[in-house]
Amino acid sequence: MLRIDRVSKSYAGSAGGISVLKDVTLAIGAGEMCALTGTSGSGKTTLMNLMGLLDRPDTGEIHLDGTSVAGLPEAQAARMRNRHIGFVFQSFHLLPRLSALDNVALPLLYRGVDGSRRREAAAIALERVGLSARSTHRPDELSGGQRQRVAIARALVGEPALLLADEPTGNLDSQSADDILTLFLSLNREVGVTMVIVTHDPTLAARCPRRIVMRDGGVVDDNWGDLRAVDVVS
Ligand code: ADP
Repeated sequence: MLRIDRVSKSYAGSAGGISVLKDVTLAIGAGEMCALTGTSGSGKTTLMNLMGLLDRPDTGEIHLDGTSVAGLPEAQAARMRNRHIGFVFQSFHLLPRLSALDNVALPLLYRGVDGSRRREAAAIALERVGLSARSTHRPDELSGGQRQRVAIARALVGEPALLLADEPTGNLDSQSADDILTLFLSLNREVGVTMVIVTHDPTLAARCPRRIVMRDGGVVDDNWGDLRAVDVVS
């Protein structure tokens, strides 16, 4: 569902260009649950931004659901993001004045869905993350773990094919982080959404079936082959 072919990216720096991604090739199948790990500065966020069409590679190709997206004009990229991709961030990015329900419904507003259908879909998404009882609460009335659940419901409300999460547990205590990963794993199983989760936490990465490890702008380890070997044997 996602193919990254020989992608490179550099940023202009004071001492010349900084090469951040170097010839990265990667394929992620529909329904996979992947952790993208590696030390700070290894290029995880840059790669995730490319997967999410938030940025463009200098060279190389990216295909999402068979569509070539690396060179899409911004208007089309925005439409593709809204229709196909859900995002979860470390710092939640919820709107403080809106209730949990209205925060979750927001992507559907941008899609032009009418009010009653938005609320209905948002209520279902909140139920899926176990937060029905908090639907009228504003973000400042919720714990960190609950805020992240609202953000996850918002990411899923539009039924995206791909969910991208950048250090989604980075602002949480270890118990809440563990609970959020449990939620991601069960949503992946139940809803079938493909997930890529950036984390530098090895304990959380170890719970994901597929682990892609980056160093210095390249993929240095990926247990994709091991997973396929299990498929073949079983
Ligand atoms: P990670 O998510 O693994 O910590 P990043 O993808 O955020 O890594 O960053 C990789 C490298 O790219 C770092 O050295 C970082 O300083 C650099 N970098 C990231 N974004 C920018 C930017 N907008 N401008 C310049 N350098 C950047």
